[in-house]
Amino acid sequence: MTASSAPATSYKDTLNLLQTPFSMRANAKVREPEIQAFWAELQLYERLSQQNPGESFTLHDGPPYANGALHVGHALNKILKDIINKTALLQGKRARFIPGWDCHGLPIELKVLQGLKSSERAELTPVSLRHKAHAYALEQVEGQKAGFRRWGIWADWDQPYLTLQKSYEAAQIGVFGAMVLAGHIYRGLKPVHWSPSSRTALAEAELEYPDGHTSPSVYAAFPAVELPEALAAQLSAAGLSAETATAAGGLAVAIWTTTPWTLPANLAVSVNERLDYAICAVAPQGDNAAPAVSHLVVAAELRESLETSLGLALTPLLSVKGADLEGIVYRHPLLERTSKVVIGGDYITTEAGTGLVHTAPGHGVDDFNTGKKYGLPVLCPVDEAGNLTAEAGPFAGTNVLKDANPTILEALEGTGLLLKQERYEHRYPYDWRTKKPTIFRATEQWFASVEGFRAAALEAIAQVEWLPASGRNRIEAMVSERGDWCISRQRTWGVPIPVFYHRETGEVLLNQATLDHIQALIAEHGADVWWERDEAGLLPAEYAAEAAQWRKGTDTMDVWFDSGSSWAGVLGGIAGGESRAPELHYPADLYLEGSDQHRGWFQSSLLTSVAVNGHAPYKRVLTHGFTLDEKGRKMSKSLGNVVDPAVLVEGGKNEKQDPAYGADVLRLWVSSVDYSADVPLGPGIVKQLADVYRKVRNTARYLLGNLHDFDPTRDAVPYAELPLLDQWMLQRTAALIDSVSGDFQRFEFYRFFQALQNFCVVDLSNVYLDIAKDRLYVSGAQEFRRRSCQTVLALVVERLAGLIAPVLCHMAEDIWQNLPYAVAERSVFERGWPTAPAEWRRAELETPMEQILELRALVNRQLESCRSGGQLGASLEAQVQLELSEGSEPTAAALAWLEASAHPSVDNLADWLLVSALQQGGSAPAEVLAEASEAGVTVRIAKAAGEKCERCWHYETDIGQHSAHPSLCGRCVAVLG
Ligand SMILES: [Zn+2]
Repeated sequence: MTASSAPATSYKDTLNLLQTPFSMRANAKVREPEIQAFWAELQLYERLSQQNPGESFTLHDGPPYANGALHVGHALNKILKDIINKTALLQGKRARFIPGWDCHGLPIELKVLQGLKSSERAELTPVSLRHKAHAYALEQVEGQKAGFRRWGIWADWDQPYLTLQKSYEAAQIGVFGAMVLAGHIYRGLKPVHWSPSSRTALAEAELEYPDGHTSPSVYAAFPAVELPEALAAQLSAAGLSAETATAAGGLAVAIWTTTPWTLPANLAVSVNERLDYAICAVAPQGDNAAPAVSHLVVAAELRESLETSLGLALTPLLSVKGADLEGIVYRHPLLERTSKVVIGGDYITTEAGTGLVHTAPGHGVDDFNTGKKYGLPVLCPVDEAGNLTAEAGPFAGTNVLKDANPTILEALEGTGLLLKQERYEHRYPYDWRTKKPTIFRATEQWFASVEGFRAAALEAIAQVEWLPASGRNRIEAMVSERGDWCISRQRTWGVPIPVFYHRETGEVLLNQATLDHIQALIAEHGADVWWERDEAGLLPAEYAAEAAQWRKGTDTMDVWFDSGSSWAGVLGGIAGGESRAPELHYPADLYLEGSDQHRGWFQSSLLTSVAVNGHAPYKRVLTHGFTLDEKGRKMSKSLGNVVDPAVLVEGGKNEKQDPAYGADVLRLWVSSVDYSADVPLGPGIVKQLADVYRKVRNTARYLLGNLHDFDPTRDAVPYAELPLLDQWMLQRTAALIDSVSGDFQRFEFYRFFQALQNFCVVDLSNVYLDIAKDRLYVSGAQEFRRRSCQTVLALVVERLAGLIAPVLCHMAEDIWQNLPYAVAERSVFERGWPTAPAEWRRAELETPMEQILELRALVNRQLESCRSGGQLGASLEAQVQLELSEGSEPTAAALAWLEASAHPSVDNLADWLLVSALQQGGSAPAEVLAEASEAGVTVRIAKAAGEKCERCWHYETDIGQHSAHPSLCGRCVAVLG
């Protein structure tokens, strides 16, 4: 077939069109697992994390609880970690990541119990319960692990750390033992948060404070029966004799409580020695009944407000200091005993109540401490189910969360000593598992004495870098204020507190010999051994003869002690300990969890590490917020606003409604959010992310598609010989690399997300590639103007793949696998973090380029108005005339810069404006279609002269001069020739 006989449309085949197997559609459901299999085959993570030339980097994984399906909170956390690890790997560091799971504890124990028939439950032994819990936890770990892997997270998935592993449990016993031997662990009767519904003590981290809790707010009078001499004298001088005051119906101290069930445990009334108190005559106001006392002691500052709330006139008779009240003997309003007014502490304020505090040492921490000061017993007439015991006298058998309050209030009302009761809404701790209220209850528990290492912990906090910096204040305040850490739990599924009690005396056996022996047993057999063996089988040889005298303890450790020992169990940070991998170090470089972990894992890890080694287990701590829906609400099934990451990645049942967006879109979301605050996610956000994903993908596809015949070793143009436009594009690429490198360094991934979009949409699509179309499609395949452009495309696409690799890891690898020319590295991750040669950084290119882009925008606006007016179609139908007058100097300088280019075939304004002809100065075109002036630059649009070339669509005046190709311009004829 000769050219002249060919139909015009065949010229399309003479263009250099896109060719690439890199598809427009991600097909993530198929392609992402293929890419992951490719990585596995290459042993990519394993090789990079173990053989990279750089330093080791330890991001220590906080273990998620091994129960339930993965949610977007897991995605935020693990993907952030993975972005950081992948960046480190690309930067040549040995970033080994050992994923962990928290496997012990009540929720799993409850799951197992709930799954049993009552007959099975009856036969359950601690050992069989533990076996079932173990199996359940492992099953949950496998489920969550599959989800994490599908998200493209790199880790030692085949060797995770589990808090139920023998070696981990043994290391934890090592931490406990070191704390015992350092004197930081003690046993004591102490009020702890107790959950009657779970029948166990709870840690702070196991409490939640739901809205809307109300308690009875109760004011009561405790009648005085004896006064200290000095007070009696003062009162007498004020007109109230000691006899009258201490007789029935005389003087009483007024107290306030929201837990009337603790009244049977009352052993003192506490005052603040520095506060002023008023002794007042009492008279009823309005219809109120007169109380059964004539005088009341209240804080002076509260007197007036109490008049209102109690409905009594309180006429001050005498003002005294709290210290003067110490020693008043009062009669218990409900029981046959007397107690004293004592000096409490600064916890007694005038913010609420009466300024005199009902004190029950068995049911409150302040009460306990005050009681200790006065040698009061730790009376706790409440059993583990919350029932009052015989010590509560007539109230025995009532339940503190049910009938105890009304029964006690009714009795109090009968005495005439109830001054007032009403409902009161306040913050109150609930059991986070059972969602039922907790109480304070004194029990025999094991404690870590935070007081013993508080100063060291605060010093350690100061040495850590907290990101954001406000995290430091949070944890500092929590550690300064926290009481001793109750580490014992009355449950079965956990690590035992390895202690023996003397069967007769109750004496405790816990020393280096027993600790070492049990640690060795657990290292060999796992913690089950504690339940499987009797005392003789658990005690070291030197105690064998007296084994019958000892009884092993039944408490397990708080699960926060489990996970808080991971620096020992995983990073090997304990004497004789081994880390899980040679690349791991202690203290870790980074801990990264939700901001609630200042109360949880960050703190438990800090306390154990400081107690044993005197320093924090981490150098930096980075926190993230929580995931919410698009309206800032919590995700919940009842609101129907839950985004299931599995559905987002793999698609839902109805793929039209819930398409499979793939892991990269989930990862892109993580990179897009400012995670220092709470982060939103919902269907609208997912759609926007999918759009951004497509833009990046299409940009990459365009770059790859234009490189199908390019071989850098053969065709690349040296930097110095590149046209200005190309050098500018490389300058933009260098700027992107610099800014993104900084963003990743500072963990500010949302800046990367913005910079990436800007680069793809503005620098590449709107400017460089828009102008480059003619160079790429129309030029001869091997022409300089095309090869120079391909040189840039290759340099850019390789770096783009590297920059997105930590986040869009699958797309980055897909790009790499579709590079149409040979590269040395099999994976984008083997290439390493993108860099730019120094010669690319030519900031002087930016100023003239900005001027020209402004001019381009002005021309585009005029072309657009012509198009919308129907005067023009494609911009190539137009010619542009420019006229420069006063004020146009920056533009003129930019045009001169462009004209001075050594490569006018690329660096020419008509091509950059996508028009067929450009005229500078001279006379205006005959028929001006549009005209505009800005900053001394006048732009006139007119129809281009000549005819449209069938091949390049330029309007040229030399068409028809070539008989072989009568519909082509001279340039195109030359290309075909
Ligand atoms: Zn042409």
